[in-house]
Amino acid sequence: MSLKVPTVHEVSYKTYMINMFGMQSPSLVVGEERALLIDTGVGNYDLKGLVESITALPYDVVITHGHGDHIGGLGQFSQAYVHPADWQAVETFDAPFLAQYIQRMLPHDTWGCFDCPQEIMPWQYRPQLLPLEDGQVFDLGGRRVTAYAAPGHTPGEMVFVDDRSRILFSGDAANCNLGLGATTVETALAGLRNIKSHEAEFDRNFTGHLGWAGNLERAVSEGPEILDTCLAICQGIVDGTRHGEEMDAGIFGRRCCIIDHGVRVSYDPQKVHG
Ligand SMILES: [Zn+2]
Ligand SMILES: [Zn+2]
Repeated sequence: MSLKVPTVHEVSYKTYMINMFGMQSPSLVVGEERALLIDTGVGNYDLKGLVESITALPYDVVITHGHGDHIGGLGQFSQAYVHPADWQAVETFDAPFLAQYIQRMLPHDTWGCFDCPQEIMPWQYRPQLLPLEDGQVFDLGGRRVTAYAAPGHTPGEMVFVDDRSRILFSGDAANCNLGLGATTVETALAGLRNIKSHEAEFDRNFTGHLGWAGNLERAVSEGPEILDTCLAICQGIVDGTRHGEEMDAGIFGRRCCIIDHGVRVSYDPQKVHG
């Protein structure tokens, strides 16, 4: 199969997961008065045009964290809400590095989905960055999306909970391949606990990656046990009861890894406490 455009999945009423060729999955939440775009993909497609074909409402852009695969398309937009701890990552956005990331993903395309645009579109804007903080609410009219701080994968990682669909949009904060090292494991544990403290507000967890390598069948949420497994592993590392094996964690480099119940947590053994 050859795929030239992203697939759009309505995972709940007026709640869309946009699978951008299996590389990253922005989300679009549409209320009665405004919409909210969460993340912007790797930047190899006109996401702005796609969003505006789905809704005519005004919308804000929020970013889960400053990694290239989530902000590659940010230059299509004039402003975005980002936690200040990740501003520097956004301001030093490195298009050639992201292009290498895309090239590294291509061999994993067992689904034949990566016949997609491979060039990162030049940034039209250096977007104005607006602060994002724990508890910040986006009132879309008839539904509210709340941002929660979940540092760990990056210092400024944020997750979002929509009160209408009861979906947690977790970026890279609580998935089956949790890459730490940008912060200590102790910090990541606090971030995961913050998500857990709001678990009564959501039923499903959609991460920023719907399916690895363009696996188009995976337009489904992560099971609730993913968050608990991430928590248990990080708790064990901090307590000193779990020790990872050193291995190559792909784009995260050499890391200690623990694999448990289908979840891999990779971390820097020099950065456990503090
Ligand atoms: Zn990331
Ligand atoms: Zn990611």
